[in-house]
Amino acid sequence: MKIAFFDAKSYDKPSFEKYGEESGITFKYFETKLNEDTVELAKGYDGVCVFVNDTINSYVIDRLCENGVRFLALRCAGFNNVDIKYANGKIHVFRVPAYSPYAVAEHTMALLLTSIRRIHKAYIRSRDFNFSLSGFTGFDLHGKTVGVVGTGKIGKVFVDICRGFGMNVLAYDKFPAEGLDNGDTIRYAELDELFAGSDIISLHCPLTDETHHMINAKAIEKCKKGVVILNTSRGALVDAVALLEGIKSRKIGAACLDVYEEEADLFYEDNSGHILDDDILARLISMPNVIVTSHQAFLTEEALENIAHTTVMNIVEFAETGQCSNEVCCRNKQ
Ligand code: NAD
Repeated sequence: MKIAFFDAKSYDKPSFEKYGEESGITFKYFETKLNEDTVELAKGYDGVCVFVNDTINSYVIDRLCENGVRFLALRCAGFNNVDIKYANGKIHVFRVPAYSPYAVAEHTMALLLTSIRRIHKAYIRSRDFNFSLSGFTGFDLHGKTVGVVGTGKIGKVFVDICRGFGMNVLAYDKFPAEGLDNGDTIRYAELDELFAGSDIISLHCPLTDETHHMINAKAIEKCKKGVVILNTSRGALVDAVALLEGIKSRKIGAACLDVYEEEADLFYEDNSGHILDDDILARLISMPNVIVTSHQAFLTEEALENIAHTTVMNIVEFAETGQCSNEVCCRNKQ
């Protein structure tokens, strides 16, 4: 099997090479993302392997099908970058439903601690032998309330981590997890109660039409003054313009973002020599109480291993049976 691997990075290759070799799968690595301009590169391959910022819209799906590509192997869990409705009945789409919820949940806590204890500032100050503590007063997490939106694999691990810090949890999920609510330190609530009662809000639900801009001006209005917003899920869960306004008005105390709505052309690349066209992102990054990481929450050795292993197993299963248990949509369905 020959697979065209888009948006390839140096850290992807070792584990994909290892598992690919074991299973007789050859990957051709393209640094470019898959989109309307690059889809012709996939001609002659059995499948394509893509990540979070590749764009698989109806045009790309049609070209892939015309070029004989039979499947799209997502090496991520979310599939909001694929037009699934359009893909259904045309091409097989598989994903990696879980690779390390710990990687993402731990990064979320790392961002939170960095932000509220000003570690990012202290690191820079002490490198300059400036040992002043002025402006570094943080707050204890112990006893605070964290609102966790989405209590799936990552959300649940994040709840555990927060409980380890002695925090109380208000959770919201469209499909609440059985056995999580203990009626005391972890409670499911409606979104409005979560907004009103949380000192920190962390997003761990998928991006759908329903969750698009769930943190918008109206939601921010309902929040506590000084609320800390954490988003390690998908950028468009947060209306970045409203977030910026909330920060400027001092309603939002801090924001930690591993994802950003318009990240596709920026994240994962070195843009240090360029003028940033995105004024909202530039303004957010300029704020002392905003931390932005470049969609790196997943990036641990364990996660990379699991991603490569599951992706290759998905392809092997499909090659052997014509189906895949991690299928999001299928060529034969209508
Ligand atoms: P999951 O499917 O296990 O959990 C998602 C949860 O969200 C489920 O419990 C589901 O019921 C809930 N949900 C669905 N619709 C909802 C809604 N409208 N409102 C509230 N909750 C809703 O997924 P997961 O593995 O925990 O991943 C969560 C998200 O994290 C993914 O969708 C992805 O966007 C993001 N993610 C980010 C990174 C990163 O590197 N930053 C890595 C992996 C995943």
